[in-house]
Amino acid sequence: MAKKDKMVYYFGKTKTEGKGGSKAILGGKGLNLAEMTSIGLPVPPGFTITTEVCDGYYKAGKKLPKGLMDEIQDAVKILEKELGKNFGDNENPLLVSVRSGAAVSMPGMMNTILNLGLNDEATEGLAKATKNERFAYDAYRRLINMYGDVVMGLHHEQFEAAFDKVKKKHKVTEDTEVPAEGLRELCEAYKAVYKKGTGEDFPQDPIKQLQLAIEAVFGSWNADRAISYRRIESAKGNTEINNLIGTAVNVQAMVYGNMGDDSGTGVGFTRDPNTGQNKFYGEFLINAQGEDVVAGIRTPQPVAQMAKWDKAAHKELMEIKKKLEDHYTDMQDIEFTIERGKLFMLQTRNGKRNGIAAVKIACDMVKEGLITEKEAVLRVPASDLTHCLLPSFKPTARNAADVLCRGLNASPGAAVGKLAFTATEARERFEAGESVILVRRETSPEDVEGMSAAVGILTSTGGATSHAAVVARGWGKCCVAGASEVEINEKGKTITVGGRKFNAKDTISLDGTTGEVMAGEVETQEPKLSGDFAKLMKWADEYRRLSIRTNADSPADSKRARDFGAEGIGLCRTEHMFFEADRIIHMRAMILAEDEDARRAALKKLLPFQRKDFEGIFKAMKGCPVTVRLLDPPLHEFLPHEAAAQKQMAEELGVKPAEIKKRGAALHESNPMLGHRGCRLSVTYPEILEMQVQAIVEAAISCAKKKIDAQPEIMIPLVGTAAELRILREKVEETIEATKTAKKFEGELNILIGTMIEIPRACLTADEVAEHADFFSFGTNDLTQMTFGYSRDDVGGFLPDYIEAKIVPVDPFQSLDTSGVGQLVEMGVTKGRSIKKKLKVGICGEHGGDPASIDFCNSVGLDYVSCSPFRVPIARLAAAQAELKS
Ligand code: ADP
Ligand code: MG
Ligand code: MG
Repeated sequence: MAKKDKMVYYFGKTKTEGKGGSKAILGGKGLNLAEMTSIGLPVPPGFTITTEVCDGYYKAGKKLPKGLMDEIQDAVKILEKELGKNFGDNENPLLVSVRSGAAVSMPGMMNTILNLGLNDEATEGLAKATKNERFAYDAYRRLINMYGDVVMGLHHEQFEAAFDKVKKKHKVTEDTEVPAEGLRELCEAYKAVYKKGTGEDFPQDPIKQLQLAIEAVFGSWNADRAISYRRIESAKGNTEINNLIGTAVNVQAMVYGNMGDDSGTGVGFTRDPNTGQNKFYGEFLINAQGEDVVAGIRTPQPVAQMAKWDKAAHKELMEIKKKLEDHYTDMQDIEFTIERGKLFMLQTRNGKRNGIAAVKIACDMVKEGLITEKEAVLRVPASDLTHCLLPSFKPTARNAADVLCRGLNASPGAAVGKLAFTATEARERFEAGESVILVRRETSPEDVEGMSAAVGILTSTGGATSHAAVVARGWGKCCVAGASEVEINEKGKTITVGGRKFNAKDTISLDGTTGEVMAGEVETQEPKLSGDFAKLMKWADEYRRLSIRTNADSPADSKRARDFGAEGIGLCRTEHMFFEADRIIHMRAMILAEDEDARRAALKKLLPFQRKDFEGIFKAMKGCPVTVRLLDPPLHEFLPHEAAAQKQMAEELGVKPAEIKKRGAALHESNPMLGHRGCRLSVTYPEILEMQVQAIVEAAISCAKKKIDAQPEIMIPLVGTAAELRILREKVEETIEATKTAKKFEGELNILIGTMIEIPRACLTADEVAEHADFFSFGTNDLTQMTFGYSRDDVGGFLPDYIEAKIVPVDPFQSLDTSGVGQLVEMGVTKGRSIKKKLKVGICGEHGGDPASIDFCNSVGLDYVSCSPFRVPIARLAAAQAELKS
């Protein structure tokens, strides 16, 4: 059989076929089991069935490919030989786990079956061989439960109920306290549940168990919760997850953490995934198997306590931490089991971490010599830097806060919101615009939609590696887990903490960094940007080619953006400046004006406001370019639409309300986005342009006099033809000269005049347009709107369906559509520079802060990207990554 058709890869002492193989084929878990085996770590042997088999299974209408079971039987033979036990043997049976594992990890989204190979007789044999009847029946009851759940789709609750009965009968509360006798009864009860639910007896043929289990793992790939998880991840920008062909299946010899008090199982991270601290972070449970640790049934102990229980095993775990980090040069997320004092590794993968930890780990690993500065820059996902920019609670406010209780600090950040009790409720209230905190006893994969909608998550049980904690951390969402003092009444929609009751209307504050739960709204503050963060940013700045500017239209935003590292303003929108209370009245008077004189009179009143605004911005951005866009929106946006507001405006302006209604009606347009706006306004009402340019020039002159280096760039929006720009440029130049003369200013101002490229026609004729432009700035919001013909304000109605149906891969307003809109951008750059070699070109749409779009901008040779102040650090890092990858 050709190598490419190989379906099964063995790992163990005999051979390790997957070593150095492909994650896409073996899945992350399979590849790493092979890697760990090959570097000599203690891994129970087994084999991996490839993701291609999963793909083939679906393509063949849910049928396993021919020859697969033969290949599997061959692998089982090697396994049997290596371990000296036989699969299906009744004396000392070989048992296996059947585990899923795609190329991208999907925590808890797919299913695992343990102890497969047991049946009534083999359980007896196992009890004898291990001289541990309790263990054997514990293993069997777990198999019947997991098999029933995963393969046959039975509800876990039915098994739970049977377990509760047995516990009651034996007067115990903990699973581990049930005696052998009770577990034997439990297996009988479980078999009855199985039969009642499926109409069949629990299968006694191990090969049949194995085959059906493998099919079930393949089946879980397309379970609702797995699909849902992939959709959310993909919406968060994890596009890799869309390209997966399926899950691999790992069949692995069992090791037993449930053999007694010298055995156990645990999970952990080689460094703290919250803070990045170089300290093993994990939990373990004595006498437990599989997911007991994360299921929140019993409370695990921190790994730091493990030495007290088994010094040698703890020491070995710490040595493995080092070996793993040396091998992978990254922080690892591991699963391990201790069978009668012997440690086994069951899984490793690069650990998920929030942005704060990512930055610290990258910087520490450079210091430790594990990675280079370049690798550190490439290592931190640019968008995760938002976590470093997350607000925290103000120290003064938090000192005064009404702390209700403390849970585990599962995922950092500060969240303030009202209580929501189910995932559905959280999602609905989020969609209605509320900030909610999802409160659950413990979350499960069914809750992910609600978790993603909530600003924070609070659970009353579960540890630092519980589902809620893991998912929240991956998303950088604030989470406090295991706050056991919080009593949740889901039906009554209340929580009770320390005798105090809170309902859905009450606001609470969560501190994911300390684990505190506080009543009411606690005031938050902006983060500090020093230390490792500053170091990583400095490295990024060394490697990037693109300049990073910001979109800002107030001195405060400009200042914040500069603190974040912005090197100028790429888009200063002027319309916001007209909306403030003391200005809107003049703006409205201008719009109502019957003739040019009246218009000019109103504009004259606006001039001082504009001049002051510009001066403030130029000052905040001194030494850096500031691109000011002339008035863009249609005028009717400035008029009130409701009768009461119209009446008030009429009073203020001393005109009749009917007058205002009439003017509003006259300005009404069927498609305002395609109507009288942008440069079209300046063509009709040049006096608006004149006032704005005069304000810019006067502000620049005033700065020059104060020796402030102002660098204004005047940007004319919505140009579609070269003639528009030619005419308006002349007007701008005349006004600049006139203003200088009027102010008797003789120095150099060096004001650039350019245009926003946002109409496809401007891209197509960019060579003509460039003749009149000193710079181009791609306004990719409008350009996307006009290229797709999607109204930006109305996409809500259909875009989600389009993304779901994969008609478009992602929201094109968030991430630049490189194949369509990108082609226009590239054409604009090429044609523009064919006329003006040095034409300055940037982008100022929402895309300017999106890492994938930044990569594209870098590749087509833009000079800068411009984004909102909070995305500036992300853009700096993404620009460096783009350049390093190119
Ligand atoms: P997930 O992808 O949900 O983490 P896994 O396949 O890793 O699922 O299985 C979950 C847990 O089951 C593991 O962490 C481990 O504790 C247990 N497990 C899996 N395989 C074995 C095995 N061969 N021996 C003992 N325990 C196992
Ligand atoms: Mg699983
Ligand atoms: Mg696992």
